[in-house]
Amino acid sequence: MMHLQPIDTLLEARWIIPVEPEVDVLTEHAIAIHDGLIQAIVPIAEARSRYIPSSHVVLKQHAIIPGLINLHTHAAMTLMRGLADDLPLMTWLKQYIWPTEAKFVDERFVREGTQLACAEMLKGGITCFNDMYFFPAAAAEVVAECGLRAGIGLVVIDFLSAYASDADDYLAKGLALRDQYPQHPLLTFCLAPHASYSVGDKTLTKIITLAEQLQLPVHIHLHETQDEIEEGLANTGLRPLARLQQLGFIGPNLIAAHMIHLTDEEIGIFSQYGGHVAHCPTSNLKLASGVSPITNLLQQGVNVGIGTDGAASNNRLDMFEEMRLAALLAKGISGKAETLPARQALRMATLNGAKALGINHITGSLVAGKAADITAVDFSDLTLTPCYDPVSHLVYAAGREQVSHVWVNGRLLLDNRELVTLKEVELHSHAAYWQKRLSS
Ligand SMILES: [Zn+2]
Repeated sequence: MMHLQPIDTLLEARWIIPVEPEVDVLTEHAIAIHDGLIQAIVPIAEARSRYIPSSHVVLKQHAIIPGLINLHTHAAMTLMRGLADDLPLMTWLKQYIWPTEAKFVDERFVREGTQLACAEMLKGGITCFNDMYFFPAAAAEVVAECGLRAGIGLVVIDFLSAYASDADDYLAKGLALRDQYPQHPLLTFCLAPHASYSVGDKTLTKIITLAEQLQLPVHIHLHETQDEIEEGLANTGLRPLARLQQLGFIGPNLIAAHMIHLTDEEIGIFSQYGGHVAHCPTSNLKLASGVSPITNLLQQGVNVGIGTDGAASNNRLDMFEEMRLAALLAKGISGKAETLPARQALRMATLNGAKALGINHITGSLVAGKAADITAVDFSDLTLTPCYDPVSHLVYAAGREQVSHVWVNGRLLLDNRELVTLKEVELHSHAAYWQKRLSS
């Protein structure tokens, strides 16, 4: 008799969509998981003859995909969901969000808001997110506790907040946080200057040096609105992208969120320098900022991932919705139905996000040797029948409510729609507390 290899988990499913090397569909396959890593993806019969798992999960009606990667968010802003809607970005920010933040945001706010966001994201199949907010130490702690993966933004703004007094203080606090988690299995860090209009040249130059020295990605809001560009032109004589280019800011470690208002020349330059884009279609539509020309960016070879942005501007942290909207907008705008097919949308929501964060050797696809960051989608509902192609359904028909199981680094965090590491009762009571305070 052949010797059976003991492993932590054997996960069998109707379909496995590994995304890499191609977005193909493997039928009746299993994933062997051990020590947090994917050991192998093989046909079910072979897996059963090779492995003896501690946990054997059989998902007969499900599609397994790499965990979704939310490439741009402000997790703690879940506590401001629906606080101010139907407003343009600058009015929304200056009259509602910034004053609320100045009054209420502290460590507890960030801790409880991030917990709420993590719960929402896990229930929606998101295993990794790229965050940018005040008190990132509180966010990092929550992420490490509840077991997701995140790129924690070491936020920098050139003005005072409850979190830090000036740019140097933001940077010092951010770097101290990074030092607290050396080689953490789930946490990576990004330098996160908020935007070109809220961070001056001196600070941006420091950030470039630090990013090079420490090999960190840089996460910034860029070319989100026409106002931002006009303000930049008035203050510096340059469009923000040109100013950043002049400072030496554009490169393969840059994750630019939004990138809506771009000339063809700017797209060419951004591509040439190897920058990444976090496309946030819902937030951009809701704030009437516009639509990012991602078809052109993709054609020019730019790596484009997808983000939800914060729940104060979206108002859902729902990557299924973002995938679908990204695909539909690209088609509608190009006038070509073949633009941004479902397979490309799924790749953008997974592998492209990992690539932007510099962690595509760890996550973003289901490949032996990568971390077991896995989302299972239950296809048993009537709304997903019949099914000729599960990838089509994932992008055009399924919703986050069909996510049944989530593993991150091999650890089960959503078990048949139940959160394992977070308590919903507690999250409800925290949200109620903050609603009362923010309404007062
Ligand atoms: Zn944002």
